[in-house]
Amino acid sequence: MKRFHCVCGQEVFFEDKACSYCNNPLGFNPDTLKMVVLTRSTLRTCGLRDHAVGCNWLIAAGDSHKQCRSCRLTRTVPAQDIPINVRRWSVLESAKRRLVYSLIALGLPVVSRTQDLNYGLAFDFLEDQRTNPLVKKSLVYTGHHNGVITLHAVEADEAHRVTAREQLNERYRTVLGHLRHESGHYYWDKLIHNSAWYSRFRSLFGDEENYRQALDYYYACGPAPHWQKRHISAYASSHPWEDWAETWAHYLHIMDTLETATEFGLIQQDAVDASGFTLLMQEWRQLTLMMNALNRSMGQRDAYPFTLSRQVIVKLRFIHQLVIGSD
Ligand SMILES: [Zn+2]
Ligand SMILES: [Zn+2]
Repeated sequence: MKRFHCVCGQEVFFEDKACSYCNNPLGFNPDTLKMVVLTRSTLRTCGLRDHAVGCNWLIAAGDSHKQCRSCRLTRTVPAQDIPINVRRWSVLESAKRRLVYSLIALGLPVVSRTQDLNYGLAFDFLEDQRTNPLVKKSLVYTGHHNGVITLHAVEADEAHRVTAREQLNERYRTVLGHLRHESGHYYWDKLIHNSAWYSRFRSLFGDEENYRQALDYYYACGPAPHWQKRHISAYASSHPWEDWAETWAHYLHIMDTLETATEFGLIQQDAVDASGFTLLMQEWRQLTLMMNALNRSMGQRDAYPFTLSRQVIVKLRFIHQLVIGSD
């Protein structure tokens, strides 16, 4: 993520709607990826700014949409007459804006469902009804299908995520991580399937047959033995598509965090500009060691609870070539 400043010089964050020093109202312009002071701009604010969602994104003056580029990707939200769902929606949108920022910054196509009715991107934030005695069905599963990303709205609750993480023996579980993962399935359809990259995908990630069976097997019998040698996470060992989505999410974690570190002067800009992937990975290793050491000093869990095997780095390099067009 870039680093942002108000016109007064004060450092401000991506989520801010006003400067904490001079109180100027602020908004984020997704076309330039910059924070701007509203009084000095002709841009319009997102319709969800003065709402519990509190979106700070802006809309070009000539654009007739009521909501910003990120908010209008959302197709369904959980029932808003239930107070906890209002908070959940806000948490989910906040993480989604970070996802959309990264996608735009990396130059990836972000085509909405209204632009492409069959395969455009849309988000359904759905509430699970399994604890509601009046509703016998409608279980919600986080996933992706033909551009529609479904996220179980309860993932916005920290207590739920911690419990699920421990039950499933995961190392990392965040809303942003879920969204990055599901975007991986979307971009697999867009960029890999039926493309010149497909055969290399298969040679690196494997044959993607029997998806259902593979997932059933994973949930019944657990991850592949020694999964760490070939996969970024245990779940990635369930099937090549999940391996791809997990590795893709990881690539987005790396690129966003490296940008933040560069903006704060922890990494030299030349190292990133040269974008030699090997060098990038060396910088990443140093940075993550530091992040974990800092977290431990604060009595927190590791910020980066992963180790990158050689095979995982080869997969990440493939994604880097696909997205950036160089290695
Ligand atoms: Zn200011
Ligand atoms: Zn918005």
